[in-house]
Amino acid sequence: MTAPVTYSVDAAGVGWIIFDHPTARANVFNAPTLAALDTAITELTARPTLKGIVVCGAKDRIFIAGADLADLSNLSDAAEAAAYSVRGQKLLSRLQEMRVPVVAAIHGACAGGGTELALACHWRIATDAAATRIGLPEVGIGTIPGWGGCARLPRLIGAAAAAEHILNAQLISAAEAQRAGLVDELVSERVLKDRAAATVLRFAREGLPARGTMPSPPLGYFTELRRATLAKTRGRLPAPIAAIDAIAEGEGKTLLDALCLEARYFGEVTAGPVCKNLIHVFRLKDRAKKLTLDPWFGRPNKTGAADAARIRSAAGAAEGRRSQAAPPHRGPGRIGVVGAGVMGSGIAQWLAARGHEVVLRDTDAAALKRGESVVRDLFEEAVRRNKLTPDEAQSGLQRVRAVGDWDGFARCDTVIEAVVEDVAVKQALLVELESVVRPETLIASNTSALPIEELSARMQHPGRMLGIHFFNPVSRMPLVELVLGRRTERAAAEAALALVRGLGKTPVVCCSSPGFLVTRVLFFYLNEAVLLWERGVSTTAIDTALTDYGWPMGPLRLIDEIGVDVTAFITGEMARFFPGRFTPATLSGRMNAAGLKGRKNGASSGFYRYDGRKEQPNTAMAALAPGQSVAMEPDKIVQHLMERMVAEARLCLAEGVAQTPDDIDLALLLGAGFPAWRGGLMHGAAS
Ligand code: NAD
Repeated sequence: MTAPVTYSVDAAGVGWIIFDHPTARANVFNAPTLAALDTAITELTARPTLKGIVVCGAKDRIFIAGADLADLSNLSDAAEAAAYSVRGQKLLSRLQEMRVPVVAAIHGACAGGGTELALACHWRIATDAAATRIGLPEVGIGTIPGWGGCARLPRLIGAAAAAEHILNAQLISAAEAQRAGLVDELVSERVLKDRAAATVLRFAREGLPARGTMPSPPLGYFTELRRATLAKTRGRLPAPIAAIDAIAEGEGKTLLDALCLEARYFGEVTAGPVCKNLIHVFRLKDRAKKLTLDPWFGRPNKTGAADAARIRSAAGAAEGRRSQAAPPHRGPGRIGVVGAGVMGSGIAQWLAARGHEVVLRDTDAAALKRGESVVRDLFEEAVRRNKLTPDEAQSGLQRVRAVGDWDGFARCDTVIEAVVEDVAVKQALLVELESVVRPETLIASNTSALPIEELSARMQHPGRMLGIHFFNPVSRMPLVELVLGRRTERAAAEAALALVRGLGKTPVVCCSSPGFLVTRVLFFYLNEAVLLWERGVSTTAIDTALTDYGWPMGPLRLIDEIGVDVTAFITGEMARFFPGRFTPATLSGRMNAAGLKGRKNGASSGFYRYDGRKEQPNTAMAALAPGQSVAMEPDKIVQHLMERMVAEARLCLAEGVAQTPDDIDLALLLGAGFPAWRGGLMHGAAS
């Protein structure tokens, strides 16, 4: 088999080191790649005609994607991890130490170790293609650049700019990389190799261009950066601090000393649990991109029939589903959204922003008007947040048409209903909808919790119906639950999966069951928190324990955010669906009756008041409490609540609501804000 890195010298004396893994889609640094690069450098060094070297890739969209994550997660202690760093540093330093010029010719994704290789070259030329994205994202997976990134980038662009780039942990476009000084030249893909070869030969004739020394950041810069980073990460993420320390302490030292420091810090963080957990999360997200429906419907065999043995019986839900893998339509289509409330307007805007033509219907004229203005506001917000250009927002807005009747629905490929959470209303709507749309139109409900088969019970073609559950606010929440009903057909599920992917959302598939996945697991946890409160544990004790655990907000603060009325409703539903197992707290009903409806009520509110700079526990809650005097250790509070959550998640698996613990982890990470640095609810749970 061809090596992942090959080399040659052309007639002009230009040596070529080419990364092109023979079987994988991406070039990554693993043991065979490192060995092949080592060989290439050694062999080229021995060629008498060599005038210089171009390092390039041969893949369409990837230069080098970085280190193999499996290697990183296998590093078990700090010394082993530091040694891994030193091996990589030494290899890349060989490029910098060549007696001939070495030029990196970058096209496609250039991440982590790929960028560190480029930094060890004498000159960097990148293509201006959209696929070319460059950067050091290591901090995002709990480690730091350990093959020279923390040592070389400050020397190239200045320590402050380097620290900022490394802490951002994002890949940036080639144009941005050039502005920042990470790359020296931008060219079109067509001329990349010619330009790189010509540059090598020019430097061979004229010598390497001189680079000035970068000024040090102002006094106190790193102290302040450390303080701000600790405040932002609440001290839970070791990698950003290690990156700052490696850069700060490396200032003014020789490159070799800075590399030694980098290796030590890399060793400490990479062997730690947070890095392992964040790599797990990275893999969960990556796997979601390759998700298929085979585990739910079976793998279609040559005749197109499902391999029944592969279908897991999801509480009976998978049985009886027909499996016909009709290809979903590609690209933007025409989509109807029914209900222009909070969710309908958010969904309509997101669809239009992604290129779909949208008809937004509401039977209430005032609600429709409000919905239209929400759509407009969301487009304006997207421009403010640099997510869309003003032109893109304008054309997106023009793609949304508000209607009070069914005008335009006959031409829709998909209709998503987001009317009130009421079975009878939704059932009647779906019957009416079927008489308006084409027989092949995909019909989806954005219901939060209602069983799909109950909603589709009166439909003529229930096979085309499923849940596409967006989370609130649609523009910010990355998760969508695809909810399969007992009668949902594969073609419908495939079309929905393609739609959700095209919207840039992350899908998790589950089968229809009360509360689906996120709401169910979350509400067992929230209800348990309220039960603790009813037993006399204070708002502050409960919420502080859980924010210290890592949740972005405590459970009671979250109830204020969701709305006490919504919480009371869902609590009632959960009690109805899970009698005996779900003991409903009565507090949210009583708060509701007292007008304490949560944050949407404005300052007066719920568990907290929101009239100051920071929310304060609401003294009005005293009237509803037996006396907030029961002391409970924070650890005990956390253990009690998290165990409840894990137990419910295990039941979801046992019942086949979700297929794997990874699905549950991803759903709660993206849908409920579970702290990523802990890896995932099930990942961290004792079995
Ligand atoms: P909402 O009350 O804000 O909006 C519902 C809209 O539907 C109203 O404007 C109403 O006039 C309209 N409507 C009612 N019957 C209609 C009909 N027959 N035809 C056309 N329009 C009709 O509700 P929402 O919060 O947007 O929730 C909508 C759906 O999304 C519900 O199923 C809800 O459970 C679900 N959901 C809500 C959230 C959330 O946080 N709000 C999150 C996820 C899912």
